[in-house]
Amino acid sequence: MSFISENVKRILKEIPDGVEVVAAAKTRTADEILEAIEAGISKIGENYVQEAEKVYEFIGKKAQWHFIGHLQSNKVKQIVPITDMIETVDSTKIAQRIDKYAKFNDKIMPILIEVNSGREAQKNGVMPEDVITLVKEIAVFPNISVQGLMTMGPFTGDPEDARPYFVETRKIFQALKKEHIPNIEMKYLSMGMSNSYEVAIEEGANIIRIGTKLFGPRACKYEG
Ligand SMILES: *Cc1c(COP(=O)(O)O)cnc(C)c1O
Repeated sequence: MSFISENVKRILKEIPDGVEVVAAAKTRTADEILEAIEAGISKIGENYVQEAEKVYEFIGKKAQWHFIGHLQSNKVKQIVPITDMIETVDSTKIAQRIDKYAKFNDKIMPILIEVNSGREAQKNGVMPEDVITLVKEIAVFPNISVQGLMTMGPFTGDPEDARPYFVETRKIFQALKKEHIPNIEMKYLSMGMSNSYEVAIEEGANIIRIGTKLFGPRACKYEG
């Protein structure tokens, strides 16, 4: 058994029921991704349209596809048809575009709202105080289904440093549930990566996005 299969099996065994793993597959080949799928992964996260299209060609419906990268409006057209969930929506404008292409493709696009829980100037995501307003605006789009929140949080290396940002995101998630906004289903909280997923699960994550711990270190390290 290769180390990818071993890693997948170990992590799937270790996490509680009800928590889903999105294998963050940036820079990985179709073969590596297929190995993860064969070992039990059912959701693949992609950050870049070109990479996603390339591996999708080989893997297709053997997995579900989550888009977890920065969303550029000129890429939405390509992303919508091959993606099962877009985790990184942070504006009404981009949501409107997703709605338009979802309609073209005759689908309802599940999305998560990306929260900039660290309020970092250089990061994507909507500021915590603006999440509820944004969700209410997006709720009116008929071909979008808002299903929860996603956050990255500042990266420091120490998972405990991420905890307050996960807590803040979970509080917004709970507040949104109480709003009972029509056409909104607060189901998923996507938080935590290789170094922080344990803390994220403790704070309520039910989707974790893991790359390095499944596939090994990336040859060329880049974020987002
Ligand atoms: C790369 C990436 C991850 C996973 O990062 P690892 O540290 O390799 O586990 C999670 N979320 C997003 C948005 C990513 O781009």
